[in-house]
Amino acid sequence: MARMPKGGQANRCCAVADRAGHSLLHTLYGQSLSYDCNYFVEYFALDLLFENNECRGVIALNLEDGSLHQFRARSTVLTTGGYGRAFFSCTSAHTCTSDGTAMVARQGLPCEDLEFVQFHPTGRYGAGCLITEGCRGEGGYLVNGKGERFMERYAPVAKDLASRDVV
Ligand SMILES: Cc1cc2nc3c(=O)[nH]c(=O)nc-3n(C[C@H](O)[C@H](O)[C@H](O)COP(=O)(O)OP(=O)(O)OC[C@H]3O[C@@H](n4cnc5c(N)ncnc54)[C@H](O)[C@@H]3O)c2cc1C
Repeated sequence: MARMPKGGQANRCCAVADRAGHSLLHTLYGQSLSYDCNYFVEYFALDLLFENNECRGVIALNLEDGSLHQFRARSTVLTTGGYGRAFFSCTSAHTCTSDGTAMVARQGLPCEDLEFVQFHPTGRYGAGCLITEGCRGEGGYLVNGKGERFMERYAPVAKDLASRDVV
């Protein structure tokens, strides 16, 4: 996988009410249509194609009819997401099985930042759904098994409204 650029804190700059993901997806898709992009919907990448130690594309399965296809490319960028589905309980899409990372690993290439799994502080174990942070914005707060508001100890000012990773 490509090396990540070095540098300081990344800025998070996109927010659209409670539907940031939806807006991002549709904006990106809409914009991409003004370029020369082809989409192969429901094609599932199975493995990287390698020739002379260089990646030349992927082999993919058309889920509609089961046919196999070679996609030959000068550059191959994998955007197959994380591996949340490796956990028993998670909110990731069912496709988040880390296929892309596995394809890279099978070629003996290095993968980076594999520990980057984000745990949601108010994910519901078993059910695999979230209680949104918005609840805390509206005055909800967290208590431990003794009924204590423990966030006061860790983030005395922000308390329950501290960033997700702090909580
Ligand atoms: C419930 C929930 C709420 C969230 N809320 C927020 C939020 O409010 N703000 C925020 O910034 N982030 C949020 N996130 C996190 C954010 O959605 C993810 O970090 C982001 O979508 C990851 O983007 P990605 O492109 O890396 O992977 P993904 O969006 O997971 O995309 C990977 C894609 O690759 C496809 N794929 C996988 N394997 C293959 C294969 N072999 N061949 C072909 N295609 C394949 C998958 O089908 C999928 O479409 C949330 C996540 C969840 C689960």
